[in-house]
Amino acid sequence: MASNQKQAIHVIGGGLAGSEAAWQIAERGVPVVLHEMRPGKRTDAHQTGDLAELVCSNSLRSDDREKNAVGLLHEEMRRLGSLIIRSADANQVPAGGALAVDRYDFASAITKALTEHPLISIIREEVEHIPDDVHCAIIATGPLTSPNLADSIRRLTGDESLAFFDAIAPIIHRDSIDMSKAWFQSRYDKAGPGGSGADYINCPMDKAQYEAFIAALIAGEKGTFKEWEASTPYFDGCLPIEVMAERGVETLRHGPMKPFGLTNPHSPQKSYAVVQLRQDNKLGTLFNMVGFQTKLKHGEQTRIFRTIPGLENAEFARLGGLHRNTFLNSPKLLDGTLRLKAAPRLRFAGQITGCEGYVESAATGLMVGRFAAAEWLGEQPNVPPTTTAHGALIAYITGDHIDMVDSGTASYQPMNINFGLLPPIHELPTHGPDGKKLRGPDKANVKKMALCSRALADLDRWLAAQAHPVAAE
Ligand SMILES: Cc1cc2nc3c(=O)[nH]c(=O)nc-3n(C[C@H](O)[C@H](O)[C@H](O)COP(=O)(O)OP(=O)(O)OC[C@H]3O[C@@H](n4cnc5c(N)ncnc54)[C@H](O)[C@@H]3O)c2cc1C
Repeated sequence: MASNQKQAIHVIGGGLAGSEAAWQIAERGVPVVLHEMRPGKRTDAHQTGDLAELVCSNSLRSDDREKNAVGLLHEEMRRLGSLIIRSADANQVPAGGALAVDRYDFASAITKALTEHPLISIIREEVEHIPDDVHCAIIATGPLTSPNLADSIRRLTGDESLAFFDAIAPIIHRDSIDMSKAWFQSRYDKAGPGGSGADYINCPMDKAQYEAFIAALIAGEKGTFKEWEASTPYFDGCLPIEVMAERGVETLRHGPMKPFGLTNPHSPQKSYAVVQLRQDNKLGTLFNMVGFQTKLKHGEQTRIFRTIPGLENAEFARLGGLHRNTFLNSPKLLDGTLRLKAAPRLRFAGQITGCEGYVESAATGLMVGRFAAAEWLGEQPNVPPTTTAHGALIAYITGDHIDMVDSGTASYQPMNINFGLLPPIHELPTHGPDGKKLRGPDKANVKKMALCSRALADLDRWLAAQAHPVAAE
């Protein structure tokens, strides 16, 4: 490798995260070499040779910066000088409140901006191994990282640290669970290491409710696997809930829904089955449905899971899913600025870190690009406060996610940005301008608006304190 290339920051993968990272680095005056294997070598999902290709939907989801967590992330990215959001804004197609784009114009605008940048060189070649002759590299090769590079990463991080499939159980906002029906208790009141004996939220079912629930799971409409996902091996360790239900009506009652060791304080009657939810973040705002990884369609999940007593009004921070997805056990492996603890010259960005979605991937690319450039310039990389969407996402990836009390498999699973990742605001207005007590959606909107406005104010303060602020365009 030429000596000027050795000095540059190498970004491997020109998807959403890698493109944004390369842009952020170059905009700080630091040379970048961006490696992208397409079009010479394709993934199973990409169709073109463009950088930042959207592999499926053309929507970057809600653009509501006042009441929506992903809209908030968009707005923060605008203020941080994001190339991805600038190109999305410039190539919008009508989509109501969503930021949807003409996918070809969007990707070609990004490809052009990166190609024309004087500090960015683009190499169209697969990186088969983690390069050992560069002093700083960012790996942003995404959910479909090429098998050669994935092997090389796995050799460095260990077999258990790189997953090839996700098995996502739904996550619910704690404050939407009806505790007049559900209750806190660990099975047999076991405290375990770090537990209190009352760590789980339990939702009881009687026999009729359980049997109706099993029937609904079996009848529910399922998503299909892509052709290249069909031979997924995850069924061995992580059966989807509906597949367990199909094995026999009693299977779930002897598996994740077993009622043993649990006493319902709201009723003298023994529960026939119990759905357990486990705390999912340190803030205690999110709880995941234990063992409920599923391939049910999203609409079906909401419909069926809201029949569980206590979850009638459940608000889902994330719905379940099963996909091919290469991602690291980031809370264990990465430090606070997404450097590999075992080899700090390497950083990771994008979906491979365990965030989920186009926008989240680009946002982590943005952050990691800033961190790497700061380090290259001899400055201290700074993370925005966790009250911002960017800070909350980085905190989730790097460990603001508790380990299991009685650990099941794969406790770290991919996550979209959502309000449950932000520290709650405890003192919120309880009455509207008309003096009436706030309830339901009005109450929820007040909370969301307060979180968004705090996030943007904190981001502005943080940006102003940085040595090299990037002005919003
Ligand atoms: C089938 C599918 C559908 C999806 N649908 C959606 C959706 O509708 N909405 C949504 O928000 N998210 C969706 N996602 C998730 C989405 O892909 C990611 O969130 C996002 O693209 C990840 O960004 P990234 O930069 O991490 O990875 P990518 O955008 O995938 O970019 C990674 C890049 O690295 C390149 N690469 C891989 N290995 C190498 C190598 N060894 N050397 C050089 N280059 C390499 C790839 O060619 C690719 O360009 C989907 C994912 C998949 C797999």
